[in-house]
Amino acid sequence: MHDFEAVIGLEIHVELSTASKIFCSCPTTFGAEVNTQCCPVCLGLPGTLPALNRKALEYTVKAGLALNCQIARHTWFDRKNYFYPDLPKAYQVSQQDAPLCVNGYLEIPVGDSGTKKVGINRVHLEEEVGKSLHAGETIIDAVYSLLDYNRAGIPLIEIVTQPDIRSAEEAQTFLESLRNILRYIEISDCKMQEGSLRCDANISLRPKGSTAFGTKTEIKNLNSFRAVRRALEYEIKRQAGLLRDGLPVEPETRHWDEQKGVTVAMRSKEQTSFYRLFADPDLVPIDLSAEWIQQMERELPELPGARRERFIDEYGLPEYDARVLTAAKEMADFFEEVVKGYNDPKTVSNWIMTEILRYVKEQGEEAEGIPLPPASLVELLQLIEGGIINRNQAKEIVLPEMVASGKAPRQIVKEKGLEQISDTSQLEGVVASVLEANPDVVQDYLGGKEKVMGFLVGQVLKETKGKANPRLVNEMIREKLKQ
Ligand code: ADP
Ligand code: ZN
Ligand code: MG
Repeated sequence: MHDFEAVIGLEIHVELSTASKIFCSCPTTFGAEVNTQCCPVCLGLPGTLPALNRKALEYTVKAGLALNCQIARHTWFDRKNYFYPDLPKAYQVSQQDAPLCVNGYLEIPVGDSGTKKVGINRVHLEEEVGKSLHAGETIIDAVYSLLDYNRAGIPLIEIVTQPDIRSAEEAQTFLESLRNILRYIEISDCKMQEGSLRCDANISLRPKGSTAFGTKTEIKNLNSFRAVRRALEYEIKRQAGLLRDGLPVEPETRHWDEQKGVTVAMRSKEQTSFYRLFADPDLVPIDLSAEWIQQMERELPELPGARRERFIDEYGLPEYDARVLTAAKEMADFFEEVVKGYNDPKTVSNWIMTEILRYVKEQGEEAEGIPLPPASLVELLQLIEGGIINRNQAKEIVLPEMVASGKAPRQIVKEKGLEQISDTSQLEGVVASVLEANPDVVQDYLGGKEKVMGFLVGQVLKETKGKANPRLVNEMIREKLKQ
C-alpha cells in the first residue's frame, strides 16, 4: 500500500433513545414481539397525520452541538420516495435539502498523543424503516423475507463525515469516539449489535501526494467495529489491485460478507434525483430561535474532551490516563466515584487502567460498563492500605471473586481466610523457629549481608501460607537480631 492513499467518509445512522416514535406515540422498546408496536401512522395507512416528537428534535440539535455543527434556524422535512417492503408509506421522511446541523467536526485521537479533526458534513433527522428478516444466510441468497414494523418510525439521525479519514484503523477510532460522545449526551445507546448504531463506509484510493479524489465504492452491512475495519482493509487491497492493473474502480454499492471476509458488488450507485424529493406537506417547517438553541447547549453535559482536561487539572493525572479514563462515560463516572471514597487519583487510575479494564475488555467491544460498583473498589483499596491483604492477593484472589460473585471484598477476605497476620504475638513463635533453623543465614546477616533478610522474611511467609504481614516480619527479625 505504499503507492496509494485511502480516502474514507462514513455515513452513520443512530437510533435516538426517545420513549416514543418520531411521528406517533408508539413505544420504541427493543426486542418486543414483532409487529406489536405499530399504529396507522407508522404503518403509513391513508388518512393519517404525523406530529413531530419534540424530543427527537432536541436530541438531534444536541448531537449537532456536541459535534461542533452550525444549527439551521429554518428547516423542514422532505419525502424521499422509493418502494421497498420495509417502507410501508413508500416514502421516507428525511432531510435531504435542509439538514438540521451542518459543518461540524469531531476530534479523534491519532498515534500516541496526537489528535485530528474529522469534518462532519451534516447531521439530519429522519425516520427509521421496518426491519426485514431474510430467510437465508445473506440478503443475496434469501428465498423470502419477513417484516417487522416495530422499528418503522423510530427517530433516526444520519451523520455524514467529510472524506477526511485515511485508514481502516482511523475509521474505527472515529466510530469509537462518536459512540462515546453520543453516549455522553445520552441521546442513544449506540448498540451496534442491536442496530441502534449502523455504519456505511465510502472509500476510494488515490496516488500518494495527489489531491484529486478517486472513484469511491460504498460498503454496507457493517455490523461491528471489527467489520468496519476488516471490510475497509479488504476494499483497500481490492481497489489497489484494480488500479495497479490499470482497471477502473466501479462506482457501486458493495455488501460486506462477514463469513467470507469479502465485499461483493450489490448494485450500481443510485442518484438523488431517483427519489423525487419534495417538502412533506403534512409536516410544518421548523423555525428555531437562538434562545432555544442556546438552551440546548446549556443542557449538554460535560463532553469527553473537556472532561479529559479536567481530569488532568483536578486530579493531576497524566494525559494518557485522562484519555483512557474518559474514553467511556461509565468508566469516567466510575473513576470519579471511587476517588470520592479513596482520595488517591493515580492509584485509582492505575487500578482501573490495568485490572478493571481487563474485565471490561473481556466483555468484547460492546462492553456494557464496569462489572462492579465503585464502593467495592474503594473497600478493596482500603483493605490493602490497612495491611489486611496485600496487593497480589487483591489482584489475584479478591478482585476476580468480586467480579464473579458480586460479593463485597471484606466478605471474600473473611470467607477465604486471607487476613494478613499483623499481630506480633501470633508471629513471635514462627519468627523464632525460622531463625533457629537457619543459623548460617543469621550469621551472614550479622556479618553485614543485609540482603539475606529477604530469604528470612520469605521463610516466615511460607510458614504462614503467605498471610504474615511482610513489613511487620521484617521489623521483628531486625529487632530480634539486634539483641
Ligand atoms: P454521494 O453523492 O455518492 O452520496 P456524498 O458526497 O453525499 O456522495 O458523500 C457520501 C459520503 O462519501 C460522505 O461520507 C463523503 O465523505 C464520502 N465521500 C465522498 N467522496 C468520496 C471519495 N472520493 N472517496 C471516499 N469517500 C468519499
Ligand atoms: Zn405508530
Ligand atoms: Mg449523498
